[in-house]
This record gives sequence, structure tokens and C-alpha cells, in this order.
Amino acid sequence: MKDSIDYLVLGSGIAGLSFAALMAKKGKKVAVVEAHEFPGGFGHTFEMANKYKFNAQLHYVWNCGEGETVNLVLRKLGLDKEVTFERYDPEGFDHMYMPGYHVKIPASSELLIERLGDLFPQAKDKIRAFVETVNKVSDGLSNISFPIKAGTVFRKFGPISTALRYLKYTLQDVFDHFKLPKEAQTLLALQWPDFLLPPDQLSFYAWVMLFTGYQRGAYYPTQHFEHVMDSMVRVIEENGGKMYYNHEVSAFLLKDQQVYGVKGKHLLTEEEFELTGETVICNMDPKKAAQMIGWDKFSKSIQKKLDYDYSPSNYMAYVAVKDLDLQKYGFGKWNVFHTGHRDLNKAFYQMYKDTDYSNPSFAITTPSQLTTHRGDCPEGWQIVEFLTVANYAYWRPLKNRDEKQYKKEKMNILWSIIDQVEKHYIPDFRKHMVFKMTGSPTTNERYCWCPEGNSYGSNLSPRNIGIGRLDHRTSLKNFYFCNASSGYAGFAGTFWTGAALYQRLSGDQVFE
Ligand SMILES: Cc1cc2nc3c(=O)[nH]c(=O)nc-3n(C[C@H](O)[C@H](O)[C@H](O)COP(=O)(O)OP(=O)(O)OC[C@H]3O[C@@H](n4cnc5c(N)ncnc54)[C@H](O)[C@@H]3O)c2cc1C
Repeated sequence: MKDSIDYLVLGSGIAGLSFAALMAKKGKKVAVVEAHEFPGGFGHTFEMANKYKFNAQLHYVWNCGEGETVNLVLRKLGLDKEVTFERYDPEGFDHMYMPGYHVKIPASSELLIERLGDLFPQAKDKIRAFVETVNKVSDGLSNISFPIKAGTVFRKFGPISTALRYLKYTLQDVFDHFKLPKEAQTLLALQWPDFLLPPDQLSFYAWVMLFTGYQRGAYYPTQHFEHVMDSMVRVIEENGGKMYYNHEVSAFLLKDQQVYGVKGKHLLTEEEFELTGETVICNMDPKKAAQMIGWDKFSKSIQKKLDYDYSPSNYMAYVAVKDLDLQKYGFGKWNVFHTGHRDLNKAFYQMYKDTDYSNPSFAITTPSQLTTHRGDCPEGWQIVEFLTVANYAYWRPLKNRDEKQYKKEKMNILWSIIDQVEKHYIPDFRKHMVFKMTGSPTTNERYCWCPEGNSYGSNLSPRNIGIGRLDHRTSLKNFYFCNASSGYAGFAGTFWTGAALYQRLSGDQVFE
């Protein structure tokens, strides 16, 4: 086998891994350089106390059904029979709770209209008009690819023109347009931790893609997310590829507008390394990479696209419980989203801007309810995870200034969340807790290498979504971006991003 590397992939996030696995399977010589000791980026799994396994960030995923994006990539890799997914309850995959109201979000739009219509009978027509528009925009978006082709526009004129009308809208703009009751807005947007943005900042497009994606099917991997990442690593290694863990890239090697390699340090041994490749694929955050390379090396148009703002960071609590029958308390094949507020925008800013978690809004996920496959904790024990927003600008200086206070405040958020859990869902939750750990924006930065602890790369606001968004092109020779911020965010989004770049560079089709 030849020694030179065809594709040097910087980062083992999902987009980088899926690209590398597809190229390795195709017979190309691939090397993946990863700063962390585990693969997967935001989707990595870590173990604590030799007992519990937690996925860093992922909770539930979409586009994993037969013939959908993730399935098509896995099929190409020969993994579709062993990497399988469990479907969430289509009768209600997200259970939304707010003061005085509760709704289960179903797969069927008609059922959704009926449920919300029962809660807000005066607004049933408005709710119907809103949901029908959401479906039209979703249909339009699935037909838009940039640059827009005249033939497609002609064939799908209705949905595409409806979709384009909302290009610059936030979710709040559309709620206001349809004059939905505030409480109906809150119930519909209560999965805001999936974006880490409130309705008044969130791109309507981003919300539609995720909401309708989960309606088509919300999934959890049968053998947990670790198995998905490990399976892709196995394909890379079995096909002669190499994974370089604990290798942090600190500089790029450049000659005549061509990136031909990277330099850095092994984080455990401190040994310096230099790696080169015919083509370099950047799964690291594109803006961070561009700053390392030199902003002026990129064309003006790419510089403009790279000038995105980062999405807010988040707070995670990783908990294990023992001897607790979660089903008895209303948990099952769904997520629970909670807010103590009528207005989600206010709820978000109270936590994000004022660091006030006295009445927190958050998501609860329970992997043990989603698959019978154990392996994330001992029999009879269960993992429960809590997710909400957190502001890097508060947590980074606090950690630098006073580590003890930082830890105390992090833990106080968990206690505040658990107060709500005990009040509304599981009265004696604390009694069952056998393990707890919390993650702040600085944890994201440390273990996911994401600038400012960002959650989704570029912020999912109208400014960054749609026409003019960064894609794989860098304006440098043999150097391509392959990351959520240069494609789509999320598990399925980054599978698509990696596979779409593979298609482009190899000429081999993954998607019909
Ligand atoms: C709190 C939270 C919850 C989420 N929940 C979901 C969910 O439920 N469902 C869903 O579909 N999506 C979810 N997501 C989004 C999803 O996790 C991401 O969009 C996706 O994993 C991003 O993948 P990526 O390939 O773009 O890159 P990343 O995951 O960002 O990977 C980049 C890789 O590059 C490496 N790297 C960076 N710098 C260097 C360097 N200097 N040297 C070497 N390596 C480097 C990093 O360590 C990392 O492994 C969530 C995200 C967050 C933050």
C-alpha cells in the first residue's frame, strides 16, 4: 500500500467520520487527526466510575428510517444491518409541559392540530393554518438546493415560493404572523434546547427542518451512540485508515495557496507531530481553522461566509439513578421538555443573560426507556440527562477566577432543575440518585474543542441559514470544510455533510 495519505481529515466529528469511513471503504488512504481520546466530537461517549456511559451531547436523531440520509450512508458502509435505531413513540415523541398546559407532539400533523385545537378552541383555524404552512415550507425546503435550478422551481413552484417567503423569518415572526396564542407558541417551541435559541432568534427554516424531521421519525440508536461512532471507526481502520487520537492540531502547512498538512502536539506525550495529505478535510470549526491559517489567505467571498456568530453554549447534567420505575412517573419512548414560564423568550433570557436559574426551562432524556440494550449502566440503574442553555461569557471568566465558586454554581443549577423534577414529575428523585456530574460551556470547549463552547457551530438564526451559507468550498486548493457550520447541524445533518462531500470528491453516489 502506498504511504502517502489521500485524505487527511482534521477532527472525528460525525461529518469527518462519515466522510473518512466512506473514502476508506472506497479504497482511499485516510487518516483522521483528533484532539480528544474518543471519536465523535459532540457525539462522543465517555465513561465515568467504570460504570456509566454518557453521550456528551446527543439525545435523539432524525432521518434514520429506511431510505433516509443516515440509513443510506450506513448502507454504503455495509453497516445498516448492525447499526440500527429505535423509534420514539409516534403518538408523542416530545412531551411538553408548561404551567397549566401539557401536550404530546405526535408524528401526525392532523393529530397535532386536534390536540392543540382542544387546548385552544378559539384559535383552531390559526393553528391549522400555521401547521399547514410548516408542512408546505418543509416540502419546499426539501426541494431547494443552492444554486436554485429553474426546472425544480417550475415543478415545485407552490412549496418553493412558500418556503422562500420565510427566508429571513424567525420562528417568533411566524408565530406573530399567524397570531397564535402565547401558550400554543410555547408548547410548539418547547424543544428549544434542540437549537439552544429562543423563538425570537431561531431561524424558522431551522425549526421547520427539525420539527418535521422528528415528525417523520425520532430515533435513538439501538446500541447507543458510542456504537455508531465505533462502527464508523472500525470501517476506517479495517480499510487501512488510521485514527490519531490525542493529536491536537495547532498549525496548518501551506504552500502556494494550498494546505498540504498540519502540525501539532500529542496531548499526553507532548511529542510534536506533522502530518500531510493530498487533500485536507477540515471537520474542525471552519472559522477557527481559518483564523489559524490566516484570514487573508481566503477569498473575500469566503471571508464573508466565515464571519458567522456562534450558537449559544449549553449546560448538561449527567445523572444515574437506581431502583426507580421511570414509567410509573410518565417517562417512556419520548423526551420531556419543561418550562415554568408562559413566554419562552423571557425564560431563555432569564437563564442566558441574567444567569438566573431559579425557574429553569430544560429537557429531560432517559436513554434506558428508548432501547432494551444495556451497556450504558449496570442492570437496574438508569441514565437521566438534563439539558439547558448557559452563557460562555459568564462561565469562562468565573472558572478562571474562582474554580470553587464555578463548581458550586454549576451544581446549584442541577439542584434547581431537580427541585422542579421533584415538584412536577418524580417526588423523591434525589433519593434514587447514585451519580451526578455537570457540564458547562467550558466543558464543551475542553472536550469538544468548540470555540466559546458553542453548541451547533454557527448560530441557527436567519442570518446564517439559507442563501449565502458557508459550504465545503474554501477557495484554497485541495482543502475543504466538512462540519455542521459548512453543511447542516445535528446527527443526520452532519452525516449528510460528510456524505455529500464524499459524493462530490469521489463521484460515487450515496443519495439517489
Ligand atoms: C447540547 C447539545 C445537544 C445536541 N443534541 C443533539 C441531538 O439530540 N440530536 C442531533 O441530531 N444533534 C444534536 N446536537 C448537534 C450535534 O451534536 C452536532 O451538530 C454534530 O455532532 C456536529 O458534528 P460535526 O461533524 O460538525 O463536528 P464536531 O462534533 O464539532 O467535531 C469536530 C471535531 O474536531 C475536533 N477538533 C477540533 N479542533 C481540533 C484541533 N485543533 N485538533 C484536533 N482535533 C480538533 C474536535 O475534538 C471534534 O471531535 C447537539 C449539540 C449540542 C451541543
